[in-house]
Amino acid sequence: SIKLNHVAKHFGTKVAISDVDLDVTDGEFLVLLGPSGCGKSTLLRMLAGLETVSSGEIHLGDRRVDQLPPSARDMAFVFQSYALYPHMSVRRNIAFPLIMRQFKWWFHIPLIGGWAKRRIERSPEVADLVEKTAKTLSLTEMLDRYPRTLSGGQRQRVALGRAMVRKPEVFLMDEPLSNLDAKLRTAMRAEITRLHQRVGGTFVYVTHDQVEAMTMGTRIALMRDGVVQQFGTPRDIYTSPANTYVARFIGTPP
Ligand code: ATP
Ligand code: MG
Repeated sequence: SIKLNHVAKHFGTKVAISDVDLDVTDGEFLVLLGPSGCGKSTLLRMLAGLETVSSGEIHLGDRRVDQLPPSARDMAFVFQSYALYPHMSVRRNIAFPLIMRQFKWWFHIPLIGGWAKRRIERSPEVADLVEKTAKTLSLTEMLDRYPRTLSGGQRQRVALGRAMVRKPEVFLMDEPLSNLDAKLRTAMRAEITRLHQRVGGTFVYVTHDQVEAMTMGTRIALMRDGVVQQFGTPRDIYTSPANTYVARFIGTPP
């Protein structure tokens, strides 16, 4: 589970997040929903450890993690602009977190480094995991291609694959579909929901799109100006909005 207690974030005098409490159950698909500037990315980045908390606590299971570096948190992050390594094949992009797990300083010596990376990438365990992941995401045919030869949706799936191979306890996604056209968005929504059902784990998914939130979330935290206005199932939020802001944002008929 993920627990946030009185989490706040200030940038100078700007209050980006003020006093957020959330309790996310294992296996849940939580959506952080709200308009531009309401603090969704800031909250997600604090979960990931990419941003410090100004005050409050974050717990993952029975560990307090808000003072730990990102690498010690067992969370994988997928950004809006999926940063794939352009000079690496799809296969190596997906294998990269596994390669880095066995990182040694001499990886930086080009000749030995390249050889060592190929060894790890071809090790039966790594090769097997990459193949399985590629199959799940329908990327098998593309393993030896380079990111620039892929479509946006295909690149997005590679970014998901790279997050999946780490088998993290928690997946954090920040508007991962916002660069895609409407048709692909719909397809990828279903893809991510299936991924959640298949691999389990806890997902925290940021979007400003109500439809995305209502169709994907097991629960939604609807935010405004750094404050969670309502935290509940899509049904709760739709049928009993906490205030007029929530009702308007979700489009509940009056
Ligand atoms: P969007 O949907 O546009 O991505 P968001 O909900 O993700 O918006 P955040 O990026 O979390 O919003 O920003 C919340 C507020 O904090 C905004 O007013 C933003 O300008 C401010 N903010 C974010 N990062 C910083 C920073 N590094 N320095 C100063 N202000 C910041
Ligand atoms: Mg954002």
